[in-house]
Amino acid sequence: MAETPPRAKRRFGTNGVRGEVGKDMHPDLVLRIGMALGSLRGGSILVGRDTRTSGPALSSALQAGLMATGCRVADAGVVPTPALQYAVAKVYDAGAMVTASHNPPEYNGVKIIDTDGTEMGDDEIILLEDRILADRIPTVPWNRVGTISPAPHIPEEYVQGVCSHFPGGEGEGMTVVVDPGSGAGCATTPAIMTGLGCRVHTLNARMDGTFPGRDPEPTAETLAPLAEMVKATGAAFGAAHDGDADRTVFVDGKGRYLEENREFAMIARHLLRNRRGTIVMPVSTSRLVEKVACASGCRVDYTPVGSIYVARRMRELLAAGTPVVMGGEGNGGLIFPDHQFCRDGGMTAAMMVSLLSSTGQSLSALADELPAMILIKEKIRSPRARDAVAALEKAFSGEDLDRTDGIRLNRDDAWALVRPSGTEPLLRILVEAEDRGRAEALHREIRNHLRDAGI
Ligand code: MG
Repeated sequence: MAETPPRAKRRFGTNGVRGEVGKDMHPDLVLRIGMALGSLRGGSILVGRDTRTSGPALSSALQAGLMATGCRVADAGVVPTPALQYAVAKVYDAGAMVTASHNPPEYNGVKIIDTDGTEMGDDEIILLEDRILADRIPTVPWNRVGTISPAPHIPEEYVQGVCSHFPGGEGEGMTVVVDPGSGAGCATTPAIMTGLGCRVHTLNARMDGTFPGRDPEPTAETLAPLAEMVKATGAAFGAAHDGDADRTVFVDGKGRYLEENREFAMIARHLLRNRRGTIVMPVSTSRLVEKVACASGCRVDYTPVGSIYVARRMRELLAAGTPVVMGGEGNGGLIFPDHQFCRDGGMTAAMMVSLLSSTGQSLSALADELPAMILIKEKIRSPRARDAVAALEKAFSGEDLDRTDGIRLNRDDAWALVRPSGTEPLLRILVEAEDRGRAEALHREIRNHLRDAGI
């Protein structure tokens, strides 16, 4: 008998539902998401949004759907995603965040947060989608319609929650520049830095859904003004967020952009100075983090690509009695299990203050201590992208292969990840080595095998 294939998600990706407003992201879809979530979960639901111009309209639709199915809605207004997750884990039955994270201003979306503060898992999302796509979603009669109340205290509680992990005074004598990019981090990260004792300058720190200063995605190019300000003010570092402030990237005191895998490795090394445990990360993460962990006698645990898989794996390991020091993705989205099980931009910025304060070294000096890694990234459009994994499995048989997500080939001097996109006819290739020649040679080898396979 043929096995039933696992059911796939239809509208939700690894980061919720997203789309361009007015094209594939409408209040009617978001209303249905609210009704579906309300009928599935019930109880008290915290709703937040980032600063996008479409946020109030979409958030209102979400809240209407939740109330129509009998929920008690708490409206947090504009909050970072990790602030919403922090509050849901403590107080609410579930949460919903209206955000398109790092996507351009014309995009928006919804991310569903489960009772424990993590993003809703795949099985539950499939149940939610069944309801969203059903002809009719049941609503409650007049005398059971839900209520709404404001929840303006969420940012402050989050700021206090982050600062509570540090003894205090870490930032004394330290100047920092914060660039929240006009996004949700405007509400919290300058306050966190101030709370740790830093002298704080800001850039793009007025909430504005048109994102006039830079795009919500922080990159070396878009952070050039931040780099200038760091140099001009003599700051220890500059910290920048994406639109919903679950990711933080840094520029050092010399105005140099710190590649995000190096950020991860540096913070991991800091935490591993005082404790032992596993580091959890997706198979797409630089070997630099593994090197740092191994040097401390610790191991890494690899997951599929997506922060939710990292967060859930961290919980599983801890439940099984395995100490976990941290988790994260090599994109500035870091997870600190003592704080909460989600990427947290405010906590990451605070951790950098703690790191610099405890080592007494500059960020630029610490960055230069790490070996330079050569990373080659490529996207190939192909209708046969999904056949690539089988072709490479055959070509590299007998070597160290990891099938956690796509195929990862591990060699002593280089590694590569080849992964078909879940939603597009697209193949993503990632090759990394310390030596440029080795990286380019492995990349060529993969391309030749793919060409031979007609991809
Ligand atoms: Mg984000």
